[in-house]
Formats: sequence, structure tokens, C-alpha cells
Amino acid sequence: MQFSGRRRKLAVHSQNDLYSHCLQLYVQPPLENISLSEFETFAVERLKLLKTVENLGVSYVKTTEQYTKKLHAEISNLNFPHKAEVDEASFTKSQVGPSEYEKRRKDHISHFILRLAYCQTEDLRRWFIQQEMDLFRHRFNDLSSKYKTEFLHKNNLKYDTLSADEKMNLKDQLINSTFGFSGITIVEQDFYKVPFQDALDLIRTRKVFLRGGYAYIPHQDIVTIVLNDFRTRLSKALALTARSLPAVQSDERLQPLLNHLSHAYVGQDYSIQKNIGKISLEQIDPLSAKSFPLCMRQLHKSLRENHHLRHGGRMQYGLFLKGIGLTLEQALQFWRSEFIRGKVDADKFDKAYAYSIRHMFGKEGKRTDYTPYSCMKVILSNPPSQGDYHGCPFRHSDPELLKQKLQSYKLSPSGIVQILELVKGMHYQLACQKYFELTHNIEDAGFSLNHPNQYFMESQRLLGGVKEIKKEVEVPQKVQENSVTNGTSVSRQPNTTQAMEEMGDLDSYFADE
Ligand code: SF4
Repeated sequence: MQFSGRRRKLAVHSQNDLYSHCLQLYVQPPLENISLSEFETFAVERLKLLKTVENLGVSYVKTTEQYTKKLHAEISNLNFPHKAEVDEASFTKSQVGPSEYEKRRKDHISHFILRLAYCQTEDLRRWFIQQEMDLFRHRFNDLSSKYKTEFLHKNNLKYDTLSADEKMNLKDQLINSTFGFSGITIVEQDFYKVPFQDALDLIRTRKVFLRGGYAYIPHQDIVTIVLNDFRTRLSKALALTARSLPAVQSDERLQPLLNHLSHAYVGQDYSIQKNIGKISLEQIDPLSAKSFPLCMRQLHKSLRENHHLRHGGRMQYGLFLKGIGLTLEQALQFWRSEFIRGKVDADKFDKAYAYSIRHMFGKEGKRTDYTPYSCMKVILSNPPSQGDYHGCPFRHSDPELLKQKLQSYKLSPSGIVQILELVKGMHYQLACQKYFELTHNIEDAGFSLNHPNQYFMESQRLLGGVKEIKKEVEVPQKVQENSVTNGTSVSRQPNTTQAMEEMGDLDSYFADE
């Protein structure tokens, strides 16, 4: 695909200039052609990186050694740039893995692709800006002073620097109000004079000298100012991108990819289940209390109480049950026995509902093997309305109701406070992970939660339940035939375009009551 009509020669030249530093402000969009396969791989890998940034940001204090170490490891695992100093030879060629040029190119292009996917709603924009800022902060802090200065020059970030005389005049004030400074360091370090509103973080922590509406910031803390700049630019760019989105979305190759990316789930799809039939219908009640995530526990409870679930609930819960190993026969029996206890008679069930359950198992229509919903899909699409029980309770329940629910499940008051804090910060999956830890009585879940079926598997592994389940999730994902993505790394991911089509198709078979 082509990002611009400019001539390739010009593009290559400017791209090389663009990649002369390992860190970017992403001012200039990519100007080269890339394949759809590369487009999707880059996007999925950046998304993985941003998910790690989010998880680490909640689990550790940012800028601590542990946080820095883990993030650094993920950046290099996913082949994003992390070296400031590279000699010319290894810039374009590498003995192992991609060269530094390729990494910087990927960093650049993947950022712009996710801009397209994450400019669509306020929630998405906020999430994207937060993770990109945390990533930027880590990478900027990782630079030596020399490369920080180089970055500022390259990006034309000219902040007012104090002259030697000004520094000497303000020497005492600077020493007294700047954290960790002596007379010698004052002479050696550059100080910048910026409007106080650009340095609120430093003022809040009383780390800088403040006078006449200006904050005096030492070079070592300039990251705060650069970050402000980065946030303002990114926020404006996302608003602009949102305006031009209709044009991009009219491209039928990109539209499903971009839509799905914002809901994208980048792990196991839980469609391969060798444990099919290993769970009996009698086990579902106890399993729902022990090993179901809150979303599925809520759906199960409501089904048992009301003997009915509406469309969204049947989809979410039905596919989850299929994912944990219910056979088609069991599923038909399960839904039938529950529905006929309510207002639906056996005849109506067979006419109105049985077809859709067989369809879900790939026995009707296009005979597609549908996959259970990931957390991102549950959280971001089809919010529940009155009378619905689907969705993610951490995202869609009123906090007070959520609190009552957690109390009824006998969670400790301090645990509930921690969960509600995470919910307040919009870290819904982390809140769910905390719920896992509390209900399983462990300190650290030791995994990063992305899927309700993953929650179930991990719980069963921990409780020593359904044996071979863990082994089975390690079976590589089914390589789906794919007209868009046939690069090797992409084939391991769920095929986003196909998944979108499948779910749309399946939706149409579920008539609601
Ligand atoms: Fe379900 Fe995921 Fe929400 Fe947990 S975070 S309740 S698994 S959707």
C-alpha cells in the first residue's frame, strides 16, 4: 500500500534522515509502500508492546529498576529500537535479526498505523496517548545526556536556556530548590526556563525553582517538558487523523483491519480444544464459582435465575462454553434444559435457538469454527443495555454494583478497594487479574490476562482441575487461510479480517427475543 504519491527516491532520502536518531516525535508520516501483511504485523507488535507498557505501569512504579528492565526486555524482544549509538555498518545490516534501520522504520510505521486505529473514540485516544507517553518517557530516560541533547536539536525543540551569568545570579535559589544539586552541578548543567504550566509534574513534587510564572528546569528533568510537547502533538494529530478517517475507511482492505485493531487481541484464540467433552454439564455450576471470570460467572448466574439470556449474552457465554470444552450435543442440552424452564417451550427452542447453536459450532451456514471472545472484544464492542448481562463487569457495571457483587463473593475489603482503584484508572483487565489473585489466594497471577478462556485455563491449572488443558493451549494456533495476511509472523495471530467477517456472519443468525 502507498502512504503518499511522492517519488520513492525522495521518500527514501527523507526516511533515512528521519531514522538518524533512535527516538522520534513522529512528526512526518511514512511515505513508502508497504504490504498489507507488513501493515498488520507492525500494528499487532506495537499493540503488544503498548499492552506491556500498560501492564507494567500498573504493576510497578514507573522509572524503577524493575519496570525499566522489563520494558527494556520487551522492547528488544519485539524488535523495536533501543540503541542510541549504532555504527554505520550495523545500522543497515545485522548478523542476527533486523537491523537498527529496520527497527526504527517499524517503530515509525507502526505508530502511525495505530494512530489510525486508535483515533476513533475518546476512550481509545486516551488509552493510546497514555501508553505512547509512557513508552516515550522510558525511551527518553534511557538516553545518555548527549543523545538527549541531540534529540532536542534534531526536533527543533528550542527551550530558553539560561546564560552562564543568569545561572550565577540565581545560583543560590537553584541549589536550594532543585533536587540533588550543588554549586558545581549548577555550573555544568544546562537550565531551561519554561512557562510553569508546562512543568506541573515537577512543581507538584517541588523539584524545581519557580519565579515570575517560569519554572527553571535542569537538563536531567527536561523529559517532563518534552513529554508535554509529545502529548500535545499526539493529541492534535489524533484529532486530525479522526477527521480524515472516512477517506481511509473507504478502502475496503484497510477498514476491517483498522476497526479490528482497536479491539485487537494478540494472543491465543482458544479455538483449538482437545478437551472437548471432558467437562460434564454437572460440573458447570461449581466451575462457574471457582474458575469462571466475573463476566461469565454473571452470565451463568443470570441464565440459571432467568432461564433466558438475550442475544449478546448467548453469544458471549455460548462461545466461552464451547471454548472450555462443551460439545455441540452438550451445548444443545445445556441451553435447551435451561430455556424450557422459562418461557420458551421445547418446540420453540428447536425452531428459534437450536440452529444458532449448531451454527456457532460450525455445523450450519458457512461451517466456520467460531472463536470465543477476547477481553478486548467484550470490553470495547456491543455494550450491554437494560436487561442484558453480557459485557465486562469491570467495564460496564456501575462501581457501586460491582462493589456489592464483589462483597457478595466474599472478597476482602482491601482487595475490593484495589479492584475499584484499577477500575477507576480504566485498567479493566488488571482489575480482573486482581480478582483472579484474590479468589485463588495467590500474590501474583503470573500471567497477563487477555481472554476469558485464558482465565479459565489458568484457574484450572492452578486448582489442578481439567488435566491436559494447559498442554492444549500451548498447541500453536490454527493457521487460518488468509487472503490478507500470509507473512509467517502474522499467521500466528488470529486473522482479524476473517474474524470480523465470521462474527458479523454469526451475529445475523442470532435473532433476539
Ligand atoms: Fe471477562 Fe476479560 Fe472482563 Fe475479566 S476482563 S471480566 S475475563 S471480559
